[in-house]
Amino acid sequence: MPTAKLIRREQCNDSTHLLTFRPTETFEFIGGQFIIIDSGLKNEEGKNYKRTYSLLSSDDKTDEFQIAYKVLEKGIVTNQYLNHLQVDDVITFSGPWGKFLKDEDFFGEGDVFVLATDTALASALSFVNSKKLKQKENVSFYWMVSDKDYFLDFEMVQKRIPPGLAHFEIVPIAEYGSEGRDEVLHKAKSIANQHHNPRTALLAGDGIIVNKIKEYLIEKGVNENHIGTEVYFNKDSV
Ligand SMILES: Cc1cc2nc3c(=O)[nH]c(=O)nc-3n(C[C@H](O)[C@H](O)[C@H](O)COP(=O)(O)OP(=O)(O)OC[C@H]3O[C@@H](n4cnc5c(N)ncnc54)[C@H](O)[C@@H]3O)c2cc1C
Repeated sequence: MPTAKLIRREQCNDSTHLLTFRPTETFEFIGGQFIIIDSGLKNEEGKNYKRTYSLLSSDDKTDEFQIAYKVLEKGIVTNQYLNHLQVDDVITFSGPWGKFLKDEDFFGEGDVFVLATDTALASALSFVNSKKLKQKENVSFYWMVSDKDYFLDFEMVQKRIPPGLAHFEIVPIAEYGSEGRDEVLHKAKSIANQHHNPRTALLAGDGIIVNKIKEYLIEKGVNENHIGTEVYFNKDSV
């Protein structure tokens, strides 16, 4: 399995950390792909806890890569493994994963619609910064998030937005598990509705939103093969 050494650790806010790694062997990836980190911690059946993290940094530079993680209340791997990693520690991982990004037909001429909720900003940000999309001027990107300190700082995110992007918007929503979260789907639909017929879409984050908006885009006539999805949580929601 590939390994990488932690070369920098930065704290973005109370619960979010940015880690920069140097892979021990050549490691190529496409913006939007992810890795699965093996924490080495064992569950009751003796199996290792493994968790998925998006490659946040641009695929322009692959001799280093970054991930950002949010510590979740009672989260096993974030609290018990990632929080304890120190500079020079080595992680074991698999990847890069994210099959649809390897499909040339996924990226065609036409409008690109990107919608991310919560921590799935990570997928979306590296997707819009990928070599394939960075130069395009027809990319609209929405990040639905509860507040400034939830994940990455708004200013830091703005700095990482490619200058030519057609539209970038941070849409305030209720935090996952809190009152008012039900309205998020309604907001997401109204955003999707403003984009009559995108050629390509990336939907990432809360499975409830991702799955419903995917259905909605298909109903509107978007080709299913041109809709990439990354569900971070609520995977089995329909
Ligand atoms: C494709 C993909 C890419 C991902 N990329 C990232 C990333 O770049 N950064 C990152 O912080 N996380 C990312 N995640 C989520 C990550 O894999 C872990 O699920 C998360 O770090 C929690 O792990 P844990 O062991 O600490 O928590 P666990 O012990 O697994 O418990 C987490 C619990 O919190 C719930 N939950 C509530 N809010 C969230 C939320 N925002 N995200 C995940 N679970 C939530 C889950 O449903 C689960 O029940 C990604 C997930 C996927 C599938």
